[in-house]
Amino acid sequence: MFRKILIANRGEIAIRVIRACRELGIANVAVFSEADRSSLHVRYADEAYCVGPAPSVRSYLNMDAILEVAKRSGAEAIHPGYGFLAENAEFARRCEAAGIVFIGPPSHAIRAMGSKTSARKLATAAGVPVVPGAIEDLSDAEVETCAREIGLPVVIKAAAGGGGKGMRVVQTDADLASAIRAARSEAQSAFGDSAIYVEKYLVAPRHVEMQILADRHGNTIYLGERECSVQRRHQKVIEEAPSPIVDPPLRRRMGEAAVRLAKAAGYVNAGTVEFLVDRDRNFYFLEVNTRLQVEHPVTEMVTGLDLVKEQIAIAAGEPLRHRQDDLVIRGAAIECRIYAEDPFQNFVPSPGRIMGLREPGGAGVRIESGVYEGYEVPVFYDPLIAKLITWGQDRLEAAQRMRRALMEYTIHGIKTTIPFHQRVMVDPEFLRGEIDTTFIDRRFAGRPHAWDDSQRDVALVAAALHAFLRDQARVAARPARAGSAESPWKLAARQAGLRR
Ligand code: ADP
Repeated sequence: MFRKILIANRGEIAIRVIRACRELGIANVAVFSEADRSSLHVRYADEAYCVGPAPSVRSYLNMDAILEVAKRSGAEAIHPGYGFLAENAEFARRCEAAGIVFIGPPSHAIRAMGSKTSARKLATAAGVPVVPGAIEDLSDAEVETCAREIGLPVVIKAAAGGGGKGMRVVQTDADLASAIRAARSEAQSAFGDSAIYVEKYLVAPRHVEMQILADRHGNTIYLGERECSVQRRHQKVIEEAPSPIVDPPLRRRMGEAAVRLAKAAGYVNAGTVEFLVDRDRNFYFLEVNTRLQVEHPVTEMVTGLDLVKEQIAIAAGEPLRHRQDDLVIRGAAIECRIYAEDPFQNFVPSPGRIMGLREPGGAGVRIESGVYEGYEVPVFYDPLIAKLITWGQDRLEAAQRMRRALMEYTIHGIKTTIPFHQRVMVDPEFLRGEIDTTFIDRRFAGRPHAWDDSQRDVALVAAALHAFLRDQARVAARPARAGSAESPWKLAARQAGLRR
């Protein structure tokens, strides 16, 4: 087993990995940019080194600086978290060349899956159904021909794509040519690779993904699915496990398809095979994420596994500790991504100083946070500041706990997506499990005021009362009495209809 691991990331995921190291008795090394000197992950780590100025290209993406710190600190392995260098085949290769273990798949598997077209080709060869469309990179003329063959609507995608960049949905023939141009130029600027292709745009599908684990000894298992259909602009906002529409036979079929593809790619370590599922519960391969996902905690909550520890054990060459037949899915888990964004202003980023912070707790509640009171959320990085995860014996209990936990959660000084999540957790369609990738547009867009004003009032009153009670408590040098008549939790609960 490793003695020391470097974590090439920041924020909540860096802390998540440090915690796993600490439980395993492995020393840990953090890296940080100049903008992150006072970050929580830096305070939490055993050792921390600056790797460059604020812009991530010069710090968190600076391979030379990170490898140099690994050597200097004596780290034997690097965990990349998600984002930044996590799916960078060149970085994995350079780690391999430097004799440092990259905690993730081998560089050849990252490369094979890094291109959506090459992954689609592999999936097709492995007998895994893919979304209808091209399995090669196409010229502009070929995209047009292919789009007409498969029929509109279609989606043009960057082969190197991720994070929704370089993706254009085309509904009418007249938009095709401009969408091709836009997708290609966005692909070039975002990924330095202008390759694009086209696939059928499915109507209101569900996004269901399968978590897999593979060791170096040829063992590959699936850990069940996560449903990530609650999305904004094709980006996940709320995830859950298991999926309300997946029953054991479908789980087995999707899981076995994912394992087949992983084996065909020579995949090792943790990975996620993403699928779209249509109304008739047909599933179609979408892409593979060759890393730990943001939403991995929901799988951990229902399987009882610690995915980061599994990743570390696999990278150290150990065989998988679990067999497919031993795995049991217990209960249900939901994750809400808490962003420093203003849900009342079309989710614009809301960086700034956190003036007050109170995180929820209690049974079945897990928080993965990268912030503290007094911390200044920088403008340079992804605005995800925390993830709130709840577990319940069933989906309804997980949702009720989420409502309760969101009510307890107060963050002052910046705007967050907490009020948005509060609204989703009381939405009848969400509670019935009637979700698909159009859910947010269908339920919330176009009529923002239906929920904005009341929720904004609740948030403002709760924030004001919280600040008032805290000041009172300071003056009196004793804690404010929770449950007093003015308690913001009670007020928010009453407003949300949880309490009369
Ligand atoms: P990225 O890698 O940029 O995140 P993905 O290919 O993973 O892009 O797709 C992200 C989301 O976009 C999916 O979860 C889904 O909501 C939507 N999407 C992608 N492809 C299709 C498609 N062919 N039909 C319908 N929706 C799609």
